[in-house]
Amino acid sequence: MAYIFWLITFLFGTFVGSFLNVVILRLNTGRTLGGRSHCQSCGKTLGAHELIPVLSYCVQRGKCTNCNSRISAQYPIVEALTGLLFASIFWKYQVFLFTFFPYFVLISAYLILIFTLLMVIFFYDLRHQIIPNALSYTFILLAFFVPFVLSNTMMMPYTWSLMTFLSGPLVALPLFLLWAVSKGQWLGFGDVKLATGIGYMLGVSGGFASLMLSFWIGGIVGVILLVIGRNSKKLTLKTAVPFAPFLIIGCTIAFFCSINLSNIISFIQ
Ligand SMILES: [Zn+2]
Repeated sequence: MAYIFWLITFLFGTFVGSFLNVVILRLNTGRTLGGRSHCQSCGKTLGAHELIPVLSYCVQRGKCTNCNSRISAQYPIVEALTGLLFASIFWKYQVFLFTFFPYFVLISAYLILIFTLLMVIFFYDLRHQIIPNALSYTFILLAFFVPFVLSNTMMMPYTWSLMTFLSGPLVALPLFLLWAVSKGQWLGFGDVKLATGIGYMLGVSGGFASLMLSFWIGGIVGVILLVIGRNSKKLTLKTAVPFAPFLIIGCTIAFFCSINLSNIISFIQ
């Protein structure tokens, strides 16, 4: 029975994902979000059968039906990932679906807002190597209230403490130091802002766990990219690997798998 709900939330997510593609593509280009989608090469307006998330791309084998030019793989990837995201949120909080439906709606809506924002930041940073301030500040603001929303949803009134305000800056501190020492060469200040939001969202323990996951995954991918691209001279670590996507991957894994610092420490030992 639960599988049907998973499938429905996944499919719903893929449609939201195709909207996110439009946002990622048109953000800061001066174009509005309205208007029909069309081929980037020949300008052909896409019909309904060409706008089915993931499926259209596969059926058309990644090519425009009119001019045969390649369609960016970003489209089906964002759609599939958004579907997965929706299914993951459902999986983590499905217990509330039948017990506290209003909470289920509140928590799902809040997390969808946060993670779709992270998805846009992820792909925007991959494309442009920069995170627009409007996106990172919105993330920090939304992230600040995550512990509040979550604990109240679990019927445990949130207790405000000094850590409520310090967790963001504390988790961002190592990245800030790396940024300051390297004068912005190893990572950008956008990464520092992103880590601030992650600290607020996951708390100090979860935040540092998420940072460690990001460094590990980033390290592995960085080595793979260097090995693949060792013949190409223009490839250096800085240009090859923007760090924000890894911060977001680390944050997502730490959140959905509830990983904190003690999990990481017992894993290392
Ligand atoms: Zn075309």
